Amino acid sequence: MGRMISWGNYPQHDHTKKSFEVNKLSSNFAINSIPFGNGRSYGDSCVSDHLIDIKQYNHFLSFDEETGVLVTQSGVLLDEIINTFLPKGWFLKVNPGTKFITVGGAIASDIHGKNHHIEGCFSESVNWFSLLLPSGEIKKCSREENTELFRATCGGMGLTGIIMDVEMQLKKINSKSIYQTTRKTKNLKETFEVFEHIQEEPYSVAWIDCLAKGKSVGKSLIMYGDFMDDGDLIYEPKEKMNVPIFFPSFILNTLSVKLFNYLYYRKVSKKITKQKVGFDKFFFPLDSIANWNRIYGKKGFTQYQFILPKENSFHGLKEILQEIEASGKGSFLAVLKLYGKSNENYLSFPLEGYSLALDFKIEKGIFELLEKLDTIVVKYKGRIYLSKDVRVSKATFEKGYPNIEKFREIRKKYNLKELLTSLQSKRVEI
Ligand SMILES: Cc1cc2nc3c(=O)[nH]c(=O)nc-3n(C[C@H](O)[C@H](O)[C@H](O)COP(=O)(O)OP(=O)(O)OC[C@H]3O[C@@H](n4cnc5c(N)ncnc54)[C@H](O)[C@@H]3O)c2cc1C
Repeated sequence: MGRMISWGNYPQHDHTKKSFEVNKLSSNFAINSIPFGNGRSYGDSCVSDHLIDIKQYNHFLSFDEETGVLVTQSGVLLDEIINTFLPKGWFLKVNPGTKFITVGGAIASDIHGKNHHIEGCFSESVNWFSLLLPSGEIKKCSREENTELFRATCGGMGLTGIIMDVEMQLKKINSKSIYQTTRKTKNLKETFEVFEHIQEEPYSVAWIDCLAKGKSVGKSLIMYGDFMDDGDLIYEPKEKMNVPIFFPSFILNTLSVKLFNYLYYRKVSKKITKQKVGFDKFFFPLDSIANWNRIYGKKGFTQYQFILPKENSFHGLKEILQEIEASGKGSFLAVLKLYGKSNENYLSFPLEGYSLALDFKIEKGIFELLEKLDTIVVKYKGRIYLSKDVRVSKATFEKGYPNIEKFREIRKKYNLKELLTSLQSKRVEI
């Protein structure tokens, strides 16, 4: 029995954890089990009574140095792929904000990175994967073969079976560094103008001051850039700082968030700054502090990430930022990004528009605030990201995901409903 398993440290749920057994395939599934990667999802998508631990299923199977095609077992971490293949001039096509996730977790969340507007989701770099069903059958899934299982599994939060082996395409690079531009904006209008202007840039993201008021609502630092071409591929991971214990939760309050936001925005003195940065700093800044999730205290935290269609984004975001500012419940982390077109997977999160991700500690009044934000998200035809979520209602979820019935049909067709469940799948009834 164990407790505390996902990144937000909330909710705590008694569970058993058993390593994935390759020799007795169907014995992996008990009633109410779910595949478990590296527990970097924030909420309850990887929380269930029985966890099937995939992390030991972690060998590279083949790599073609000419084409960059990698075949790997799904428990391999993105970090291991980078460490092994960066020196050979290959990198992942899609990188989330942490490299400590498994390939299986990347597919199950159909993750996106700072280049969604150019490269799409992680599944877009996947040629095929094998999927173990509770019946013990293994299906090869691709866009051409078992298409419906492919579309349901990418973004399907582990609810369609165990992703085993994966063939994926890596991206050619010729540097470990990024040439980064940082632009400071003074309000949401200017932030949107800059995003529209830099759509050709391969990677872009913004930090937004979510406690800014009045005319300053939406003031941001927008970071964008691309890999350099200096031939320097020598890489040694740096030592990390660590947060050894849970902080007392009072340390994080409106005042400390305000102070952080003030200093962070002020730190960039010029309107436009250009600099060379390592890929770790650019893609994975939070990874430099191990266990940073402990700063939110023992009660844990949640990340609220939503996306709104582009035509509704400006008004919707403004309303949401005003609601947050009025509540006084700010977030250090407030990441804004313009996404490209959606793909055909049934539950993939991205659609063409703006997404905002915010971290909130679990405290009195927080769920009431998030429900208010939900009504604004629904009003502007947006959706919530399941990988971060721990509390969205069935009604709000369904309004955001019009392909949910197709997903439910697959769960029924392959008899998945009893065996593969998470607290989240039960809550939103998928
Ligand atoms: C600091 C930080 C930054 C992040 N930034 C981003 C970001 O920029 N973009 C983004 O999209 N996400 C981001 N995330 C979320 C993270 O990428 C996803 O939650 C990812 O799915 C976590 O992978 P994991 O291996 O830890 O899986 P877990 O958290 O263990 O599981 C996540 C889901 O994947 C399923 N799963 C895991 N392995 C398998 C398998 N082999 N077969 C079938 N299902 C499986 C689980 O059942 C569960 O539903 C971030 C998370 C953190 C902590």
